[in-house]
Parts: sequence; C-alpha cells; structure tokens
Amino acid sequence: MPDIRDGFLDSIGNTPLIKLRKASELTGCTILGKAEFLNPGGSVKDRAALAIIQDAEAKGLLRPGGVIVEGTAGNTGIGLTLVANALGYRSVIVMPETQSQEKKDMLRLIGADLRLVPAVPYANPGNYVRYSETLARELETTEPNGVLWANQFDNVANRLGHFNTTGPEIWNQTDGKLDAFTCAVGTGGTLAGIGMALKERNKDIRIVLADPMGSALYNYYAHGELKAEGGSITEGIGQGRITKNLEGAPIDDQVRVTDEEALPLIFDLVRQEGLVLGGSSGINVMAAIKVAQTLGPGHTVVTVLCDYGTRYQSKLFNPAFLAERNLPVPDWLT
Ligand code: PMP
Repeated sequence: MPDIRDGFLDSIGNTPLIKLRKASELTGCTILGKAEFLNPGGSVKDRAALAIIQDAEAKGLLRPGGVIVEGTAGNTGIGLTLVANALGYRSVIVMPETQSQEKKDMLRLIGADLRLVPAVPYANPGNYVRYSETLARELETTEPNGVLWANQFDNVANRLGHFNTTGPEIWNQTDGKLDAFTCAVGTGGTLAGIGMALKERNKDIRIVLADPMGSALYNYYAHGELKAEGGSITEGIGQGRITKNLEGAPIDDQVRVTDEEALPLIFDLVRQEGLVLGGSSGINVMAAIKVAQTLGPGHTVVTVLCDYGTRYQSKLFNPAFLAERNLPVPDWLT
C-alpha cells in the first residue's frame, strides 16, 4: 500500500510517540513525548489551526479569499497562515514584540501580515489577544470576502481538535497503557482536549497541569486563586485566566517547573538524545519526571514535545541571552 499524505493539511497529526531515554532511566518509568514538533508547521498548534479553520468552514464563517485574524505567541499564527495558504485564505497575525525573532521571520516568510504589539497584560486593550479582536472587527468593514477572528483561547474548536485527534492517537499508540498525562497551558486546548479524550477512555489516567513560573494557573488549581509568581523565558505557555478551552478540563493535579529546571533538560535532550526542542517542551518533560517520581517506578507518563528548538535559537541556545538572565549556560554553547 502506498503511504502518501494528501498535501499539507493531511500531513498534520499522526505524530510519533517517542520514548525519552534519560527521563525514563532517571525515574524507572516509561516517559513518552508526543512529537508535535514534527507537524509540518513545526508545532502542536498546527492541529488547533486546522481544527479552528475547519470548524469555521463548517459553520459557513469563511469564504474563499477571506482573512483569518489572530493574536498569538507565534506558533498558532504559523499554523493558521500555512492552513490559510493551503486553502486560499489570507492571515493577519498579531504578536507580542517580545517573542522570538525566528517566529517573526517564519511568519513573514510564509506571507502573514504580521503586526507586532507591545507585550502588555490581558486587562489592557492593547494586549495582543484583545487587539486582534478589535482589528478583526475593523477589517470586517473593508474586507470583501469576510474576516474570521480565530480566537484560539476561547474558541473550543481548539480543544475539540485535540479531543478528536491527539488524545485518541496517544491512547492508540500506548494501547491504553498509560498512567498519567501532563502538559503546560497556553490556551489550554492541548491539555483539556487530550485530558478529556483520555478520561473518557479510562477515568483513572491522571491529568496533570505543568505550569511555568509567571503563570497564574498553578495557584488556581492548587488553591483556587489566580495568582502568578516569578517569570519564565518560555514562549507560548503560561496563562492568567481560565479560558473557555480550560473550562471543565479534567485536571487532577498540578506541578510547577522553573526555567532553571527545564533548561538543562532541553540541553541534555539535544546532546544526548538528538531532540532539539523549544522551552515549553522542557517544562513538559520536567513535569513528566516530577509526575513519574510521585507515581513511583513502573508507570507510564506521556507529555508533549510542542515545537522545534531552532525556533528559539536566538534565546534558549544563545549564551549571551542566558547569561544576562543568570540562567544555566551549557559548556558546548560557549
Ligand atoms: N508550547 C508552545 C511552544 C506553544 O506555542 C503553545 C501554544 N501557545 C503551547 C505550548 C500551549 O498549547 P495550548 O495553547 O494548546 O495550551
């Protein structure tokens, strides 16, 4: 049988599940990473982009030549723009200027109309998410073929995409033999969608939030209070509110991971396992190790390898950037 994917859209998903050798050895558990960085747009967000656009098409919200507008840390913008290119739409992407140069370059390369805005809190109307909604409303008056505000944070087509694809894939790839799943939250689509799909099949699988510093979710799920402490250089994760995608997510437990814990792992994954991953993957793998240590040897813990490390070469793998922030600098980078 020929094994052929029908173009870009059909190439999204069905990613490998990779055993992480060092994390597994360290814990006596089987720690598996869902290789979302192998999606054709280079991140887990290809899935959300496809799900959101297909949902809008099914609801008649997009016409040929229409414009998709979104506020994003970058990966969703890349996914949306590539899906738009494949389907005959255009994209306008609003992104905080603090995000990596590599993601900005990629967005321009693939033809997004990129609008950089100052990184301000959600409460400020100039915030990238809030501004993207305003811009979408403005463009509606001039765009002849209509505008879709993708609204990845509160559009549950996002988590439904993971509920329908990523979650069942993990279940099938492990033959249902997993004890826990953990990942960090940006919109919450990945954690909630996979969590719901796994719980539906086996309610005993523990779903654990992995939270970077600077996010308010750990305190919310642990103590009922949305309160952030510290900060992180990771991009695309951390959240200050309960998005619609997070509402009702079946979260059993929560772990907090610092950059100081995650970075050495990211460096080891490059040098010892050949996996070049972004910061959120480091947070996720560290969280999986913590969950495995809590469960004890013999268990299987699954997490998400969200995107490629080359997307952050100027930050995570830049000795000057790391040293300025008193973060660990690996010898081989200096
Ligand atoms: N990691 C990276 C690198 C991301 O870009 C994102 C999405 N912003 C996430 C993790 C989090 O995924 P989600 O939005 O599904 O919570």
